Amino acid sequence: MNAPMHDQEQETLILDMLDRFLKVEVLPHVHHLEHDDIYPHEIVEKMKEMGLFGCMIDPEYGGLGLSTLTYAKIIERMSRVWMSISGIINSHVIMAMAVQRFGTDAQKEYFLPRFATGELRGGIGLTEPDCGTDLQAIRTVAKRDGDHYVVNGTKMWITNSQEGNIIALLVKTDTTAQPRHKGMSLLLAEKGPGFIVSKKLEKLGYKGIDTCALAFEDYKVPVDRLIGGVEGRGLQQVLGGLELGRINVAARGLGVAQAALDEALAYSQTRKTFGKPICEHQAIQLKLGEMATRTQASRLLTYAAAEAFDRGERVDMEAGMAKYFATEAAMENAHEAMRIFGGYGYSKEYNVERLYRDAPLLTIGEGTNELQRIIIAKQMIERNRV
Ligand SMILES: Cc1cc2nc3c(=O)[nH]c(=O)nc-3n(C[C@H](O)[C@H](O)[C@H](O)COP(=O)(O)OP(=O)(O)OC[C@H]3O[C@@H](n4cnc5c(N)ncnc54)[C@H](O)[C@@H]3O)c2cc1C
Repeated sequence: MNAPMHDQEQETLILDMLDRFLKVEVLPHVHHLEHDDIYPHEIVEKMKEMGLFGCMIDPEYGGLGLSTLTYAKIIERMSRVWMSISGIINSHVIMAMAVQRFGTDAQKEYFLPRFATGELRGGIGLTEPDCGTDLQAIRTVAKRDGDHYVVNGTKMWITNSQEGNIIALLVKTDTTAQPRHKGMSLLLAEKGPGFIVSKKLEKLGYKGIDTCALAFEDYKVPVDRLIGGVEGRGLQQVLGGLELGRINVAARGLGVAQAALDEALAYSQTRKTFGKPICEHQAIQLKLGEMATRTQASRLLTYAAAEAFDRGERVDMEAGMAKYFATEAAMENAHEAMRIFGGYGYSKEYNVERLYRDAPLLTIGEGTNELQRIIIAKQMIERNRV
């Protein structure tokens, strides 16, 4: 993947602007939007104005052309304030990168400028009711009929599919192909007749943002919406985006881990028991020390994977390690923050219960953490054959 060179000056400008936005436009509204599960329309409009939907799209197509490292820092900062808003651009970026990397020239010229402004925005439609990890088992079928494909099937857990207007849809264009992935293709599916959002799913956390079940009933897609113009490359195109996807989930984990540490550090200095702030009790210090170390280790793994990706290296192991470690750090830090808050950690008035509900998703999405450890081990063996 051709990631642009890291530009420190550009990064400083963007992150300063983002910090102001998060502090003024997002932070004061998180509690209300999250607890009432309200879609953050105004925040999304500001994200469009800032160019965040085009953060990794080449400037020649109207994007900001940021490095993966800067992108990871953006996601980290967003997730430190509210993880859900990072999800609004995460899967959109993966869809955009599939077009930037594998699309035909005509697809790049048509879609990338519209993705960059957010005029067209959405995510990726891979998972089905019966399969997520084993994507080759999908059953959504696209049958060629003249200059269209006719799509029938169902998708599950598709983020940005209610509020967005397009998704990169993984389908079978040949149900008999062996190996199965040779019959899989990726279509740019804009909303239209037969593209049905069947249900917005109720979730433990990750609220505010739409994650839905979809049905496709004789839904027609013009053949020029087949990414790359050649059938049978869909799974390869999806897997090509996974390294970036895992870096961005790692960055979310880092942001949540940091947020839990921030909350715990502040609270432990104001809450007093037995005549002193609880941060002066050794049992609390042990927790804070572990939380801080986990957060910093997550940061180093995530940034290192992003930098290696920017250098064009193969990073399945590095991205897997970052994703696995940072998301487990988010889980552990959220839990520890809750304990440090005592009874108040269990209250809906404080942020830690939200972090505790948001963190588990990160261990599931973009390849479960069970799978990450298998990927890490396999790569390690391959790189160290004796
Ligand atoms: C809030 C939310 C948002 C999501 N957004 C999207 C989205 O936008 N687009 C999209 O396409 N999907 C999305 N997903 C789906 C997500 O990517 C899948 O849930 C995930 O890939 C796991 O698939 P599954 O749920 O089918 O679990 P399964 O694949 O059924 O796995 C079940 C368990 O078996 C384990 N397992 C499976 N295979 C193996 C193996 N070979 N070795 C060891 N263990 C294994 C898994 O680790 C897991 O513990 C979302 C999910 C959630 C919860």
